[in-house]
Amino acid sequence: MIELKSAREIGLMRRGGHILSEVMDRLRTSVKPGMSTLEIDTDVEEFIRARGAVPAFKGYRGFPATVCISINEEVVHGIPSAHRHVKEGDIVGLDLGCIVEGYYADCAFTLAVGDVPPRVHELLDVTRESLEKGITECRPGRRLSDVSHAIQTHVERHGFAVVRAFVGHGIGRALHEEPQVPNFGDPGRGPQLRPGMVLAIEPMVTMGSWEVKILDDGWTAVTRDGSLAAHFEHTIAVTDSGPEVLTSKTGGSARAA
Ligand code: MG
Repeated sequence: MIELKSAREIGLMRRGGHILSEVMDRLRTSVKPGMSTLEIDTDVEEFIRARGAVPAFKGYRGFPATVCISINEEVVHGIPSAHRHVKEGDIVGLDLGCIVEGYYADCAFTLAVGDVPPRVHELLDVTRESLEKGITECRPGRRLSDVSHAIQTHVERHGFAVVRAFVGHGIGRALHEEPQVPNFGDPGRGPQLRPGMVLAIEPMVTMGSWEVKILDDGWTAVTRDGSLAAHFEHTIAVTDSGPEVLTSKTGGSARAA
């Protein structure tokens, strides 16, 4: 069953989402070559707590940190470490969530550190655009798989691949609620979207094959072929007038967030 959220509940998720939006702005300028991923994580945790929110991932199923930091061929769920340093030319996926008065918000984006080749920039652009295409479908009357299809179509048109093993999700009083939101599939299937549904949509896109494996740490997912991967995510409320991006201060497109 997909739980519909009240205006009050969406308001709490918007508060969390706006905090995450500020964190993303901060990370865009603060992440520099030479920083350890643990330094990044510590800074974000302090920032979130200083605003009265609680990091959503720390302790979730035993995850030890505030931010999942996934570099280059790492797709998602990378664990911050004092021994892992960001380098010029890396692409760094930063996935984070927070809780305000019991309600969750979740977002992610991938950052190029310094110069990267044009095709790698394209990977980031196409992944972000595919999220925007999915968000556009988040309106009453559309079916869930219309979101999935919009994402997959955009990604594959540009010669990239969509990861199958991880999907987006409903979100609210829990980080992961019904429904699952795949980033692939035929249109016109699944439940109809209704006002009050809140979805975390999160395309994970690779430059090679869509297949992934989990490293021995039990968390970090990497591409099987070692190709680079990007990840963008927003928390979106379906409203009568269309999608509201709760993890954007403008409520609008992923690009504006
Ligand atoms: Mg998520």
